[in-house]
Amino acid sequence: MSRISKADRQLQLQQEAAGQPLYANRVRVYPKSVHGPVRRFKWAVLIFCLGLYYLLPWLRWHRGVTEPDQAVLLDLFHERFYFFNLKFWPQDIYYLTGLLIMAAVGLFLVTSLAGRVWCGYTCPQTVWTDLFMWVERVIEGDRNERMKRDAAAASLDTVWRKAAKHAIWLGIAFWTGGAWIMYYVDAPTVTVEFWTGTASKEVYFFTFLFTATTYLLAGWAREQVCTYMCPWPRFQAAMLDEQSLTVTYQGWRGEPRQRGRRLLGDAGGDCIDCGLCVSVCPTGIDIRDGIQMECINCGLCIDACNHVMSVAQRPRFLITWATLADQAAKARGEHPKFRFFRVRTIIYLSALLLAVLVMGVALATRAELGLAVLHDRAPLFVRLADGDLRNGYTVKIANMADTQVLFELNLDGMPGAVLTEANEGLGPAVQLGLPVNADSVGTFRVMVSGQPAALKAGSQPIAFVLSNTSTGEHTVYRSVFMGPPGYAGND
Ligand code: SF4
Ligand code: SF4
Repeated sequence: MSRISKADRQLQLQQEAAGQPLYANRVRVYPKSVHGPVRRFKWAVLIFCLGLYYLLPWLRWHRGVTEPDQAVLLDLFHERFYFFNLKFWPQDIYYLTGLLIMAAVGLFLVTSLAGRVWCGYTCPQTVWTDLFMWVERVIEGDRNERMKRDAAAASLDTVWRKAAKHAIWLGIAFWTGGAWIMYYVDAPTVTVEFWTGTASKEVYFFTFLFTATTYLLAGWAREQVCTYMCPWPRFQAAMLDEQSLTVTYQGWRGEPRQRGRRLLGDAGGDCIDCGLCVSVCPTGIDIRDGIQMECINCGLCIDACNHVMSVAQRPRFLITWATLADQAAKARGEHPKFRFFRVRTIIYLSALLLAVLVMGVALATRAELGLAVLHDRAPLFVRLADGDLRNGYTVKIANMADTQVLFELNLDGMPGAVLTEANEGLGPAVQLGLPVNADSVGTFRVMVSGQPAALKAGSQPIAFVLSNTSTGEHTVYRSVFMGPPGYAGND
């Protein structure tokens, strides 16, 4: 059972006694439409991101008759991830780790330079919420009209508009959920199967699950996801410093605010307290209160205020992209200087370059073969009639090439040892030729017999060396040869 502190309990009791609710009700945000370069750029990013997301599964990529021809496909059924020319196996999971490290460090770097631009422009929650808001605006009108409509009693006009809005939202959500599934199964095939009722139940389940989550998160929850659900705003402050570019109200220029400055004259600050920057904000905050956790750095308030400044015939960019250091310098009448290279950006940049380098080298030198060797558990060893010892192993060879490959298996670390392949009935040999089909894993039972040189501790390290007979590519798997402690050959 969770416990609360004495002080919190006391506050809770006081609030209950005063009739105050413990949690504030949601204040519905009605963002106003805005025009300007930031908004246009945001539309361009939105179209690019959505276009990429919806169309990528339809991009074809020829890989031969035996491979799927979808450019990006996470084929869970066959345990392969296809990304254009690259094909990853489950054992390549460390590439995913590298990719995640690069994404995280890249995000840290971008945030330390330009604040939460990821949140404001490319985060899926922002992109889909923006799209849903656009639909809402087209059907129900701009901010004032929507506020009036919601405050008034329901009318036929309101009902059909809301019904149409939700129907379109559900349509977009369904398209989004369906597109997500297409990253896991062939897009044209699953589309036909879906509409003919022959798709798997998992396809239907996940399509409707993602439809529901998209509809709820982008249509209903909106800015609450950023404010309450997402952990990123909580720790992004650790990446910011006084040199990070953020959307900033230049208080030194705007204050003291004057309502109706044209009537009052030029005394005071440039802000005419029109509230347009608040009306257009998708999270409903007032940027004039300073940097806030809710601000996603979208910059729409810049467009709004620039419009007001133009009408009021004042210099534009009262709200602008700026650093805290800039503002302090400008307030002192000094020229601001942007410093790209700071300790934190140098660390993030170095970590990012290192990760890119390691990933690049790993990809360039990526092997097309894999080897795993499992020693038999019981019996650990067998003593043969001639006094030799024999150990059994299960050898798994992954052939990642598109053609059948003949591999050669050798043993290192035990001179005179003989290898026997149990399944194929091959005779004893010092090396084995093992064929493995294209894009598959071959499993072989291999026996190693011989007289280990030193078994004082009951085991001797050995190494299996696997080579591709066509390309010469090879890999090594270290294992052990077991026997009784103190073994001394034909004793
Ligand atoms: S305050 Fe400005 S930059 Fe921040 S979320 Fe609102 S509109 Fe976007
Ligand atoms: S839009 Fe500009 S002038 Fe209007 S309230 Fe905001 S900061 Fe002040």
